[in-house]
Amino acid sequence: MSLEIRVEPAAAERLYGVCDYYDAESLLTEDERRVLGRLRDFLDREAKPLLADYWERGEFPAQLARPLIDLDLMEPAELTGPGPERSPARGIYQGFRIFELARTDASLATWYTAQAGLFRTAIRVGASAEQQAEWMPRVVDFSLKGVFSLTEPESGSDIAGGLSTTARRDGDNWILNGAKRWIGGASTADVLAVFARDVADGQVKAFLVDREAAGVTLEKIHRKTSLRMMQNAHITLDGVRVPESMRLHGVNSFKDVAAMLRAMRSDVAWIATGIQAGAFEAGLRYVRERRQFGRPLGSFQLVQEKLARMLGNLTASLSLVVRLTEQQARGIYRDQDSALAKMQSCLAMRETVALARELAGGNGITLESDVARFHADAEAVYSYEGTHEINALIVGRALTGESAFAR
Ligand SMILES: Cc1cc2nc3c(=O)[nH]c(=O)nc-3n(C[C@H](O)[C@H](O)[C@H](O)COP(=O)(O)OP(=O)(O)OC[C@H]3O[C@@H](n4cnc5c(N)ncnc54)[C@H](O)[C@@H]3O)c2cc1C
Repeated sequence: MSLEIRVEPAAAERLYGVCDYYDAESLLTEDERRVLGRLRDFLDREAKPLLADYWERGEFPAQLARPLIDLDLMEPAELTGPGPERSPARGIYQGFRIFELARTDASLATWYTAQAGLFRTAIRVGASAEQQAEWMPRVVDFSLKGVFSLTEPESGSDIAGGLSTTARRDGDNWILNGAKRWIGGASTADVLAVFARDVADGQVKAFLVDREAAGVTLEKIHRKTSLRMMQNAHITLDGVRVPESMRLHGVNSFKDVAAMLRAMRSDVAWIATGIQAGAFEAGLRYVRERRQFGRPLGSFQLVQEKLARMLGNLTASLSLVVRLTEQQARGIYRDQDSALAKMQSCLAMRETVALARELAGGNGITLESDVARFHADAEAVYSYEGTHEINALIVGRALTGESAFAR
């Protein structure tokens, strides 16, 4: 019997090295790896030096936006082929793109995903074929920037039943009244995808609202302690007039919104996994360099147990999102699948970032060590796109057939 000996590629040749313990990266093509490698170079060179400073100031480093867009990451021509007939980039590539961004910074990943995930999904799921033909190319090249405006001041988890922004038909126009909260990226968007309840039939509809339309007011949400670089807005809509042509014709009830959320939750599970990779790497770096009792921290048994636990969380999360993405590539989309991935990856993330912070001791609470940024930013990711409880209840409903949201 001959044993085939597989020579492992050196960690340096792989994009994700020790963060990708079971080599999920091998599912990527060479071309996909090349695009992701370009993203990596950009983030290392241009983004990383800015992060601590902009986080502390609570501002987004606007100078990164154009170069990030110019990297052509959403549907890179070299992965999709030229022309309108091109095939979309694969889900596994899209997932690793989010992973790479989040491994560097959660705000950068959230900023990119606001357009490439939330807004694009609103158009893909909610727009008619004619609207898609007109808008989608502009969504992909960011010449039409948009955000997803669903949450309201008085309704977060119970938005399906609680959504109270109203839409009233008036000839060829609609009149919108209400308020939206937490809307990420609104201050730099061209249009806000606003969900409102039609007063005539009580159903939820969606509208692309010009950010500068009369009656739209945006206020920055200040004093955040998490995702400080990402800008979130409180939006007031006071008699805002929107033409019927700007209504998303495929959104006729909350069911259509739920289909969007299903797709977006998977992206957040990739973000939670990327954050773990960033925190794990930062923690590992720290315990290799820092010495106590005359030895590197990494040589102590209790420190190694923490490292192993972090790697276990990260590897489990990465395996979960990779498998979910494979299922979705086969056309299997179920609410409970993305809810489970979002819930579980975020649980693991919370432990991983806390362990990373712990490994760095006092230095773990200053922005000089990356672990502090990951630790703080993880809290927003834990709560957005469905809290732990709401995602657990979606899974519970699928398991038992009983809806337990309001008991
Ligand atoms: C940084 C950030 C960015 C965001 N970006 C966007 C965006 O771009 N667009 C957008 O539309 N929204 C956005 N959101 C909103 C986000 O989706 C909501 O914050 C989230 O859905 C939770 O709603 P809530 O904050 O109102 O919490 P609440 O719904 O008030 O919940 C508070 C707590 O009560 C728990 N709870 C609620 N109901 C139940 C129940 N039935 N059983 C058990 N526990 C329950 C929740 O799990 C949570 O722990 C963002 C939020 C944040 C923090």
